[in-house]
Amino acid sequence: MRTTTLPMGEPVPILGQGTWKMGESKRRRSDEIAALQAGIDIGMTLIDTAEMYGDGITEELIGDAIAGRRADIFLISKVLPHHATRRGTVAACEASLRRLKIDCLDLYLLHWRGQVPLADTLEGFDQLARDGKIRHWGVSNFDVADMEELAGVAGDRQPAVNQVLYNLTRRGIEHDLVPWCKQRGIPVMAYSPVEQGMLLASPPVQRIADRHRATPAQVALAWVLRCPGMIAIPKAGLEKHVKENRAALDLVLDREDLDALDQAFPPPRSAQPLEII
Ligand code: NDP
Repeated sequence: MRTTTLPMGEPVPILGQGTWKMGESKRRRSDEIAALQAGIDIGMTLIDTAEMYGDGITEELIGDAIAGRRADIFLISKVLPHHATRRGTVAACEASLRRLKIDCLDLYLLHWRGQVPLADTLEGFDQLARDGKIRHWGVSNFDVADMEELAGVAGDRQPAVNQVLYNLTRRGIEHDLVPWCKQRGIPVMAYSPVEQGMLLASPPVQRIADRHRATPAQVALAWVLRCPGMIAIPKAGLEKHVKENRAALDLVLDREDLDALDQAFPPPRSAQPLEII
């Protein structure tokens, strides 16, 4: 598995697994656990979740999926903005740890900006790190102005990642946020990298897939992963989809492909507000 490096020097896989909506259907639960486990077997050991997903049901499912192999996983969860006071952050993390049946998260993110001052949330993260309950902290859905403000509050502490919406149809961050993060060595983690499945029916993406005897999902993922320092976390509830996604790492898009994709999905020409799903 190819890796990128967090600001604190730790390598993490560039292709992980998202989990939003997992566990919400009893009928799909065993397929979802099998998909996550198959992904772990083939190196997709970075798993992203959140206390919000299914009101904790998703974290419980992950706890079952990773039982006995905690050490292999880089596990990420997120605190909801309205929980993100100093004490609320600690309490939310402890509840996540219980549902996940683990002692420590590898990375804990603020899910998006809310009303709580960033300094309070950072105090919560610091407390959790001191207590050995999280190893790293980071943010999600932060635009450049939020990152600037965070940098002012955090001083010499750096977020491990900024997790944001990024795919062929959501390219706004290329204009400013990606360069901002790159300059500071902060990886960008792309969520909804196949636009929640919507990109898979795109004719231009299909044409490139045909050219490479690949699938649209692989083209969409290979395109996201063409950026150095980018991590993608597609969610796939079927083993077949996970294996297909893993093979995106073997697909190299050439200049002709990238030009065709730029034609179909033009890059931003000016700053755009960060899009959020
Ligand atoms: P994705 O872009 O990852 O799309 C997921 C959908 O695509 C599912 O319906 C899945 O189907 C389908 N899919 C995935 N791979 C394939 C494939 N190879 N072939 C066919 N269909 C495929 O959307 P998400 O919104 O789930 O984003 C990924 C993750 O990012 C989330 O799960 C979550 O962990 C995180 N996220 C974070 C947010 C934040 O605010 N920080 C917001 C949104 C997402 P199936 O399940 O049937 O395989």
